Amino acid sequence: MRIVLLGPPGSGKGTQAGLLEKRCGFPVISTGDLLRQAVQNKTPLGEKVKSVVGSGELVSDEIMIKILKKRLLEIDCKNGYILDGYPRNIAQVKILEEINGHRKEVVIELYLERDAIIERLGARRVCTKCGAIYNMLEHPPKKKGRCDICQGKLIRRDDDKPKVIKERIKIYNKEIGSVIDYYKRKNVYHRVDAQFKINEVFDNICSIIEKESEDIKEVGSIR
Ligand code: AMP
Repeated sequence: MRIVLLGPPGSGKGTQAGLLEKRCGFPVISTGDLLRQAVQNKTPLGEKVKSVVGSGELVSDEIMIKILKKRLLEIDCKNGYILDGYPRNIAQVKILEEINGHRKEVVIELYLERDAIIERLGARRVCTKCGAIYNMLEHPPKKKGRCDICQGKLIRRDDDKPKVIKERIKIYNKEIGSVIDYYKRKNVYHRVDAQFKINEVFDNICSIIEKESEDIKEVGSIR
């Protein structure tokens, strides 16, 4: 089983992926998180992609394929996984099909209007220690600038700065149409309105997955 979460930056993919992971036990593969970890740990990969990730541009498909292949081979992906931030273009879709095409698949796009994206991302802060996500308007931390879970420092991601946000939306819109068309033709595409509360969006996602998947029911109901 593969669950693919599509959606513009700020649509809540990371939050929903985390909830799904807890509910159905499949690991989340967030390509953005994998890249940010590499940057933070100053690995050779991190040094290579640092400026691209900070700018909101896409990292080359060549690098992304290597990262994805390696991650999908890990044992926790055996029964299924949740993709957050991959695929970003049709070339990445095709590669995913090549390396792991046999899986049953549910693709869900979290849809959000441009103004709402800009407002959400402007208010987003992330924990430097555990990666928890906060929204300063809807879900602020109890103590200013500190994570509720681990007390780590909360920061604004480089690519959540206003100029970069607009660039990221532009890049997303440019590439995603052909990805969505592909999944529509494959009959696995669903769209969920992401403007509602986290739990409401999550319920809608779960309903789709339950309807589409016998596999998950075998693992145990995701509700
Ligand atoms: P995200 O957290 O998904 O918004 O990703 C943050 C940044 O990581 C993006 O702006 C890109 O620079 C890079 N990135 C993440 N996933 C991909 C991908 N599938 N292809 C290319 N670049 C990616």
